[in-house]
Amino acid sequence: MKRFYHGTQYGISTDALSYTQIRLHPDKSSNTQRPFLFSLDAQICDEHLSLIIRTQQILFVPNHKRYLLYCNPDIARRKHKEDPVGLFICDHISDEKLANLVNPTIRAYRTGEEAASPTYTCGLCNTNFHIETLEHDTDLALVITKWIDLGSGMSPDDPKWARYSSHYRIMRHGEATIHTSDEQAGARICFENASNRSLECLRSCNLEYLKGERYKEIMYQALGSEVHFWHLAKGARQNRPV
Ligand SMILES: [Zn+2]
Ligand SMILES: [Zn+2]
Ligand SMILES: [Zn+2]
Repeated sequence: MKRFYHGTQYGISTDALSYTQIRLHPDKSSNTQRPFLFSLDAQICDEHLSLIIRTQQILFVPNHKRYLLYCNPDIARRKHKEDPVGLFICDHISDEKLANLVNPTIRAYRTGEEAASPTYTCGLCNTNFHIETLEHDTDLALVITKWIDLGSGMSPDDPKWARYSSHYRIMRHGEATIHTSDEQAGARICFENASNRSLECLRSCNLEYLKGERYKEIMYQALGSEVHFWHLAKGARQNRPV
């Protein structure tokens, strides 16, 4: 935000905050690895002087392995001995609550119905999020997009910022009501109005990284950890380092 108030010689650009990464999780049932994508981009809303972060999480599986998308930590672990991938909305939405939102979209895909796809809002921290299950050629993707309004960033006491700080998070830990009305979807609306990269565009770019493991050619691989990890900063050189 410094850059926004004082000019481009100060602070960092919102572009510099943007990145995409892919972690590979071992799928013990098939001895393969299944990718989990996380992307982040940032946008300043001029009208409300707010920095808004948009993140996207994508679970990507072959079409016939739809069961891997179901979000029920206990059953998934018992039945398929999978490591939970760790989809995350905010501190106030439990795994069970998230499962109750995610699983109907997968079931609806299976039965060919239209799944409800509102913008959800956490009643405690105002995080906006959107869940969808969609087909991408021979693969199936669970896409969770999230918008967080961090406020003007000029004071740590700004309530918009404070609600994401650790102290506040501990204070307000607990189950939240989830709203579905558009009036509460301010962060999403501000971000999407200000961004030149639509949600559909972001999603298709991210799906293209995953398709046929294209990320292995485009992204940088971080080695040395147990979980395989690929990374791409926005504006980074788009080829693999040698
Ligand atoms: Zn929350
Ligand atoms: Zn705004
Ligand atoms: Zn695009």
